[in-house]
Amino acid sequence: MLKDKVAVVTGASRGIGRSIAEHLAREGATVIINYNGSADRAREVETGIRENGGKAEAIQCNVADFSACEAFIADVIKKYGRIDILVNNAGITRDNLMMKMKEEEFDAVISTNLKGAFNCMKFASRQMLKQRSGKIINISSVSGVMGNAGQANYSASKAGIIGLTKSAARELASRHITVNAIAPGFIRTEMTEVLSDSVKAAATAQIPMGTFGEPEDVAQMTVFLASDKADYITGQVICVDGGMAM
Ligand code: NAP
Repeated sequence: MLKDKVAVVTGASRGIGRSIAEHLAREGATVIINYNGSADRAREVETGIRENGGKAEAIQCNVADFSACEAFIADVIKKYGRIDILVNNAGITRDNLMMKMKEEEFDAVISTNLKGAFNCMKFASRQMLKQRSGKIINISSVSGVMGNAGQANYSASKAGIIGLTKSAARELASRHITVNAIAPGFIRTEMTEVLSDSVKAAATAQIPMGTFGEPEDVAQMTVFLASDKADYITGQVICVDGGMAM
């Protein structure tokens, strides 16, 4: 389905990003596995994809760093000639009640989650405009749709991603570039593993389907949005959340 496509997935060394990279590769895309600090884990993802007959390369870049993103995207274009799919998945949490939240906690989350997505979109979309085609998929969160106590920084970053998605979708639509957001609910990854049992129980109680989702649930939606089956869908926010945000 994605043969000859070049895909960049940020934060693909584990969790949701890893699953997205593996699913895109399975459909035939050449996948750039971006990571920041976890070189060994990113190489593991790269090796796994190659052993299954796919094409992948792990490349380090801190998405919060504007000039590093410019160099990263330029490097991908130099090596692979194009970018068809960009998945902005890299994200962090620094949870705290707003009263206690430190300036650094707010800034770090906005820089990685929101500015990181802007940085990669800015440079990748320039190439997509030349190609007159492209698919951008931004990983938001139900926290950005509904808000969440203890996550003022994270919710703001994920709501910001929704605004960024819709504005970019309007700017790029005439050149056949679609921009959509996925808002996952609670998904079983290292990000949610650290939550206490009582927080996990309270979260589960909010999910009509009664259980956390798996990274694959988000990856399947990403593959669909990255494929030509989704050519007429842009500017949308699709919740993959077991009914949580409805
Ligand atoms: P995770 O397991 O903590 O993985 C986060 C990934 O982001 C890692 O690969 C990490 O790589 C990378 N990353 C972090 N900072 C980075 C930076 N500055 N530059 C480049 N890469 C960076 O998280 P996850 O649960 O898979 O979440 C993935 C995305 O889904 C995030 O945007 C998250 O907000 C969103 N999401 C998750 C859930 C959930 O329930 N899990 C729900 C809604 C939305 P390094 O270790 O190399 O830094």
